[in-house]
Amino acid sequence: SFRALMIVEDAGKPRAVFRELTLADLPDHEVTVEIAFSTLNYKDGLAISGRGRIARRMPLVAGIDLAGTVVDSRSPDWTPGDRVVVNGWGLSETEWGGYARFQRVKPQWLVRLPEAFSLEQAMAIGTAGYTAALCVDALEDWGRMEPGGSEVLVTGAAGGVGSTAISLLSSKGYTVTAATGRPQAHDYLAGLGASGFVDRASLSQKGGILQKERWGGAVDSVGSTTLANVLAQTVYGGAVAACGLAGGMDLPASVAPHILRGVALLGIDSVMAPGSKRERAWATLAGHLDTRHLDAIARVEPMSELPRLAEEIVAGRIRGRVVIDVGA
Ligand code: NAP
Repeated sequence: SFRALMIVEDAGKPRAVFRELTLADLPDHEVTVEIAFSTLNYKDGLAISGRGRIARRMPLVAGIDLAGTVVDSRSPDWTPGDRVVVNGWGLSETEWGGYARFQRVKPQWLVRLPEAFSLEQAMAIGTAGYTAALCVDALEDWGRMEPGGSEVLVTGAAGGVGSTAISLLSSKGYTVTAATGRPQAHDYLAGLGASGFVDRASLSQKGGILQKERWGGAVDSVGSTTLANVLAQTVYGGAVAACGLAGGMDLPASVAPHILRGVALLGIDSVMAPGSKRERAWATLAGHLDTRHLDAIARVEPMSELPRLAEEIVAGRIRGRVVIDVGA
């Protein structure tokens, strides 16, 4: 048997508990993966702490990400020994996820892990890093970003999405400004390639509907007033990739940046993104993410620490990324 972190229903509320499982307990999907590592994302924090209703079917194994090796497959697309990653696809919401030694998954959920990364590095990236790559791909597709020219803002900079976005954008040659509430993280963020800093408090106060044009592009994981201000500070023809809500789910904004400056708001979803976008995002990561940066971004923690770490990430106190050793 092996240990798993499960979300169970307790008096109508979700509660996280460790349970012993066997392979016979797992869902009857075609591919069995031996998981090496999972990870902790903001959404995992919400699910484990019970602060957000993430699990919509209980009981289920939590963990929206997993990285491991195929050990059994009824699908022609995968064979034992393949190194694979799953990000999202409803894991921890309606499907069993990554906080366990083994999981059974649908073949179409799997992405082949690029040679460039170890299984541990795959989870140092995780949904947060893969989402950062989706944001960078979307900004580049918009077609107005110029490496060497454009100044790009990253909000929620010291978090998981933010840290990876800074590393990717700086490796691609953009000038990156980090918006953070943690001055003590400036050295860390400069090490990832940020060359300017904005105090996040200056973006969380309501501002004018059109402000001084600064950003050729932006990656926003904060939402709410922050996103409204970022849109109002984006240059004529620029774009903002919005993926998060760490500062709130609302958007108290004006259409002015869109209709007077042609600014685009690009919505980014990682959970149901089609396979082609995932392959491309992982290729972007393999091509441009400095693995030395990954070592600075991530640390490994045992699965037994998840309940405490979940509270920390929801409180905004986790820097970078946490990889979870599912065997510990
Ligand atoms: P994270 O590691 O907790 O990072 C979030 C960062 O946002 C924090 O480190 C903090 O950065 C900043 N922040 C926190 N609370 C804030 C507040 N009240 N006001 C302003 N800034 C605040 O989380 P993550 O895993 O990177 O995820 C970031 C966000 O993206 C989450 O909302 C998550 O749900 C979302 N997300 C969405 C998708 C998708 O598919 N769309 C995928 C992944 C993540 P500083 O300390 O530097 O200020």
